[in-house]
Amino acid sequence: MSTDTKKGKERVVLAGVLLPKYRLDEEETLAEFETLATSAGAVPSAKIFQHRQSFDPAFAIGKGKVEEIAALCRDKKLDTVLFLNDLSAVQQRNLEKETKRKIVDRTALILDVFAQRARTKEGKLQVELAQLRYLLPRLSEIWEKFSRLGGGIGTRGPGETRLEADRRRIQSRIKKLESEIEKVRQHRNVLFQGRKKRNIPIVSLVGYTNAGKSSLLNALTGAKAYVAEQFFATLDPLVRQVRLDGGEILLTDTVGFLQDFPPQLAAAFRATLEELDEADLLLHVVDGSHPQSLKYLAAVQEILADLHLEEKPVLLTVNKVDKMDDEVKREIREALPSAVFVSAVTGEGVEELKRALKNTLQHAVREGENAHEARSD
Ligand code: GDP
Ligand code: MG
Repeated sequence: MSTDTKKGKERVVLAGVLLPKYRLDEEETLAEFETLATSAGAVPSAKIFQHRQSFDPAFAIGKGKVEEIAALCRDKKLDTVLFLNDLSAVQQRNLEKETKRKIVDRTALILDVFAQRARTKEGKLQVELAQLRYLLPRLSEIWEKFSRLGGGIGTRGPGETRLEADRRRIQSRIKKLESEIEKVRQHRNVLFQGRKKRNIPIVSLVGYTNAGKSSLLNALTGAKAYVAEQFFATLDPLVRQVRLDGGEILLTDTVGFLQDFPPQLAAAFRATLEELDEADLLLHVVDGSHPQSLKYLAAVQEILADLHLEEKPVLLTVNKVDKMDDEVKREIREALPSAVFVSAVTGEGVEELKRALKNTLQHAVREGENAHEARSD
């Protein structure tokens, strides 16, 4: 198989099918896809999308479009096709055969971004687990590709055995990863229980990716979380302590949400998302400067409902107020009267946000030193 050892970035075709169902509008879907591609380090050099009512069973996209993609790859010398959608193993194989290029579907693309970003042990374990789960049902397709190249006498029997052996090896690695992740999770549970006993409330940042969650965590705590104009700059759960005059809280930064988050990935990142379950309050961060901010807000609320978190108390905060003009501010204030407007960059509204956090949490916030003194009387 050809490997891309050439220096520089991979130039790619962005392709896919636009179904009628997209929650946000089309432009947003495509912009998000492009950001995802550049986050993976690719250089989008051409685009071919098709409106369809449903996927073509053999190629996902129409046969005519497949030919267009193949021609584009040849003419512009592009190595890879990134697909907006998830593909079945068969669709992926057919597309590879027709275009003679590497085909990367949506889940594989997101996994690639995750793999490049994961830094903690738990993050890395989760990525590897998700990658192996993704690979397993595709294993026979990969073996078939090899035997097509070699083929004939001598490849069949041993090929099968090796396929079986590979499958077993992967399955046992999956088991091992699952048990390691479980251990990490139990360890974290113990930590959380300790915090609960000490009555320190836990606030979890949620929101669309790029809304400014990590920046806000920094603004509230002075911590240095990794901030970047990239999707999933933070994959790993991060916890920081914040003092709210007299009390303290723990603030956790979690993975950003994305439209149509592939369900198999949601399963792999269950541990990270489960952290939200432990929170006493969700701090929902909305990028107010984004033209679709209210749609994003609704998309996040939908995901929270999917995770059975709709009952959790939520404090809404509209970030990037420094980038909003007065008319937009008025509109959003009308739509979200209870939201606190902040700018993680200029610090505007951050003190007000701390007060709002304190008020919302007032039953839970530990009384701090005063309570301590009172108790020791
Ligand atoms: P996250 O994905 O939600 O964690 O978002 P980040 O904190 O990584 O921020 C995404 C981008 O938005 C970065 O380029 C930040 O510098 C920028 N950003 C965050 N907060 C603000 C803000 O209040 N104002 C402006 N103008 N930019 C912001
Ligand atoms: Mg972040």
